[in-house]
Amino acid sequence: MDQQLQQEGYFGEFGGSFVPPELQEVLSYLSEQFYKFRDDPEFKEELRYYLSEYVGRENPLTYAERLTKAWGGPKIYLKREDLNHTGAHKINNAIGQILLAKRMGAKRIIAETGAGQHGVATATACAMFNMECIIYMGAEDTRRQALNVFRMELLGATVVPVHKGQGRLKDAVDAALDDLVRNYENTFYLLGSAVGPHPFPTMVKHFQAIISEESKRQIVEKEGRLPDAVVACTGGGSNAIGAFAHYIDEPSVRLIGVEPDQAPSLTQGVPSIIHGFKCLVLLDEEGQPKKTYSIAAGLDYPGIGPEHSHLKVSGRAEYETVTNEEVLEAFQELSRTEGIIPALESAHAVAYAKQLAPTMSEDQIIIINLSGRGDKDVEQVYQMLK
Ligand SMILES: *Cc1c(COP(=O)(O)O)cnc(C)c1O
Repeated sequence: MDQQLQQEGYFGEFGGSFVPPELQEVLSYLSEQFYKFRDDPEFKEELRYYLSEYVGRENPLTYAERLTKAWGGPKIYLKREDLNHTGAHKINNAIGQILLAKRMGAKRIIAETGAGQHGVATATACAMFNMECIIYMGAEDTRRQALNVFRMELLGATVVPVHKGQGRLKDAVDAALDDLVRNYENTFYLLGSAVGPHPFPTMVKHFQAIISEESKRQIVEKEGRLPDAVVACTGGGSNAIGAFAHYIDEPSVRLIGVEPDQAPSLTQGVPSIIHGFKCLVLLDEEGQPKKTYSIAAGLDYPGIGPEHSHLKVSGRAEYETVTNEEVLEAFQELSRTEGIIPALESAHAVAYAKQLAPTMSEDQIIIINLSGRGDKDVEQVYQMLK
């Protein structure tokens, strides 16, 4: 692999590409194509067009007036990724990667999905761009998110349940990588989070950075200054890295990622290699990726993006955990006070912001990245609260 591209795939000691030679060849070609098209004016214009006309960007940065009053501290703003077409931030990345796949001449798109949100986003983009779509999903997740399976099928995708391992997101990633090695000639692997071997973390960040590009402009328009803190939940880390991207070089802005206390990759993980890249990973006593559990299927992954691993170790970003009870309370509180039902994933960020608010003053500002809407979770929360 080209030395310069190799270096670009690292964030401190994390990232890189630890894959068999036949997969490395595919990824090196993908890197080359990504860097070639990323700054191409026609590609950028096409991306801008679909984000505006199809996804519905830019989405608002909503001042949460009642929540601000209820918490009695800093001004709370919500970045409204929940308002995107398909209901979450994942479509930003799906559209970006599918435009790249189209440029590369791929006919077949494969993807992994956990909660089903990335599968839905991918199946949506495939329908619009008339691409064959195969979605790998852990068998356990297909049961937890049966409606999303049906959604993907409605959109014309084939959903393949993965029974290996725990039958969860991690196993779906393995199955998708396996498919890519076998079918790389006509297949594009549309990865859903800021994880995996280079160039995926860099590519996913590039397509999700639109979140902070907009929020930075919006907060300066509304408040004439930058926020004091940006809070986002972290599964693989794509909404968080997108929400942080344009603030990383602004030292006055605290960047805070929030994870479930039962899948705390960043707060308790150790450097290790998982799925072809190095990051902080939760390991069990035998040194294997730990069995994780989260009420939010989208946060249920024992690893985390390499850039977050680096932001954590370098001290630039902070990572915190919240409990299921705190998440369920935040889910209800945001619904009640602002009329916005958040995704359970996003409710993690809300729950931590609630703890952060009393430590800050009224003239300060918190932006919460509302990564998605909670329609998909309403039935699950109903069952849990009953
Ligand atoms: C998938 C998902 C997440 C977690 O994925 P990241 O890559 O960490 O962003 C968070 N929120 C929602 C709504 C999701 O669908």
